Amino acid sequence: KAKDSGRNCGLVYSDKWDNSARERLKLQHELFRAIRNREFVLHYQPQYRINSGRMVGVEALVRWEHPERGLVQPKEFIPLAEDSGMIVQLGDWVLEEACRQNKAWQDSGLPAIPVSVNLSLRQFMHQNLPGKVAAVLKGTGLPARYLDLEITESVAMDTADVSRHLSELARLGVGISVDDFGTGYSSFLYLRKFPIDRLKIDRSFVRDIMHDPGNAEIVAAIIAMAHNLNLQVIAEGVETEDQVRFLKRHRCDEMQGFFRSPPVPGDKIAEMLGKEASGPYTSG
Ligand code: C2E
Ligand code: MG
Ligand code: MG
Ligand code: MG
Repeated sequence: KAKDSGRNCGLVYSDKWDNSARERLKLQHELFRAIRNREFVLHYQPQYRINSGRMVGVEALVRWEHPERGLVQPKEFIPLAEDSGMIVQLGDWVLEEACRQNKAWQDSGLPAIPVSVNLSLRQFMHQNLPGKVAAVLKGTGLPARYLDLEITESVAMDTADVSRHLSELARLGVGISVDDFGTGYSSFLYLRKFPIDRLKIDRSFVRDIMHDPGNAEIVAAIIAMAHNLNLQVIAEGVETEDQVRFLKRHRCDEMQGFFRSPPVPGDKIAEMLGKEASGPYTSG
């Protein structure tokens, strides 16, 4: 296996999974096997209320614990899982596992917070998505208000199926967030038409808030628009105290990013939630 030597991280691995049909087929096969062998794990990134500093949610982010390559990041395999259709099976597992884990935290007495799950277009368009979500909630016992689904602007296009799925999900009581907001070149009409709860400002705008006046204006405008539409707004990729101050000044509701915490394994979240419950922020 000389050709594998010296490669132990996903970044390098991606060079080898080039776009040739053979390589793609191989990856597809590996993904299929990985789902069967339960090689995927979820990490969770905390989301914080900006004013209180409290943890108010977590986003589930999938990783592949590859037997030889170690932890592989989603950008290495999500696009191929999407193209091959495998994202539907992988996504089913993510949804179920995130709900199961959240219910387990709650059952162990930790403060109840929603878990956000990313849905790609293909998963969202799946004929029976609302039925699937309802079944997972029922099966895991997680109350619907503790599940939030993240869709992108490409999903939020105005089609009859999208409209039907979103209203059925809203009727179940799950939250809907628009991920990577501002990068999708789409009309904003859907924000009024669809039952959306929250906008997630894309990291690319947040990154340059302090140095690029244009991006600062965009972030301020998104926050104002969200509030005028009665939507919550969360900033992604918050890495510095200056960014937090800017977001606070512009009344952004929530933040997520390395400044407070990267994505971490589930047991670490339990530990953090436990500290929150007994820490300075608790009202009881
Ligand atoms: P996303 O949904 O926008 O998730 C946020 C990404 O930003 C995560 O990358 C997270 O680790 C990263 N991030 C968070 N805070 C910071 C920060 O302060 N600085 C920087 N530089 N990065 C930050 P990750 O985990 O690699 O996921 C990448 C993308 O893969 C996600 O973007 C999402 O689109 C997709 N993805 C991840 N898990 C799933 C899944 O279960 N299903 C689907 N369909 N897509 C997923
Ligand atoms: Mg997301
Ligand atoms: Mg995002
Ligand atoms: Mg993003």
